[in-house]
Amino acid sequence: MELQIRHVSKTYDNGVQALRDVSLTIPPGMYGLLGPNGAGKSTLMRMLATLQQPDAGSIHLGDIDVVKNPDAVRHTLGYLPQEFGVYPKVSAEELLMHFALLKGITDARIRRDVVHALLFQVNLWDVRKQNLGGYSGGMRQRFGVAVALLGNPKLLIVDEPTAGLDPAERVRFLNLLSELGENSVVLLSTHIVDDVSELCTRMAIIDHGEILLEAEPLKAIGEMRGRIWRRIIDRADLADFEREHPVISTRMLAGRTVVRVYGEQAPIGDFESTEPALEDVYFSAMAGHIGRRSELVATAS
Ligand code: ADP
Repeated sequence: MELQIRHVSKTYDNGVQALRDVSLTIPPGMYGLLGPNGAGKSTLMRMLATLQQPDAGSIHLGDIDVVKNPDAVRHTLGYLPQEFGVYPKVSAEELLMHFALLKGITDARIRRDVVHALLFQVNLWDVRKQNLGGYSGGMRQRFGVAVALLGNPKLLIVDEPTAGLDPAERVRFLNLLSELGENSVVLLSTHIVDDVSELCTRMAIIDHGEILLEAEPLKAIGEMRGRIWRRIIDRADLADFEREHPVISTRMLAGRTVVRVYGEQAPIGDFESTEPALEDVYFSAMAGHIGRRSELVATAS
């Protein structure tokens, strides 16, 4: 089942245009929607979760018209929003039982089996009797996944799930996600490039409500080979350097400033060619060296 988003736009009442003519085709598997804060990711996620409507455009999950027939999607949707509340004085097992009932699993034995299987799957079995108020951020996120997975959704939406997690929790959480989604569409929105490079077979980069690039991460990285140049400079020289070169990122390394520059040919000066990473794809698309922004510049000139 494919998710098809066609020419979707959305402007909020305050005049902010959060999505501009967004079109994406999302096959089963893990798909990453990558963009900075304010790019429009949550707006799109809420729309796919049928919580708000587009001003224009259409969304289809397989044969289901998501905009016209939201109830049909809700039966087959799992949504882990950026922020969700839990009842702190209830255990994970109790609350999951309750949500399973709301989801329509009325047979008590089946409900118990489903809930137990999910608690195992998200690795909360040993702490299932603990109150949710005592859970860490990572445990809560994994509980959120268990809730989202109730009823075997064909579309699973996870909005910025790793933002507040410490490194160990993040790895555990990403491992959990990677086990899902062979048959269903799993859409992960994030501003963290590594989330996408570690997990997703396809991705889109979004900024200011516009899709800048749709790609397979490994292929996009391959296409950057021979175009990323690296140089170590003094921090004090950075401003001058940025005026002279198309800098895509800077990073401190052992007290020195490492600059990465985009160029189809070797820039003049003391640069070394370097192996590209997904971060280079992301920053190059944002800066308009590749993708939609570069096409717009080419058309204008
Ligand atoms: P992201 O999830 O990528 O951070 P959002 O979809 O939350 O982006 O926001 C996109 C833009 O829309 C931002 O400029 C944000 O301030 C604005 N926005 C989001 N929600 C609302 C809302 N309910 N009302 C008005 N503006 C909003």
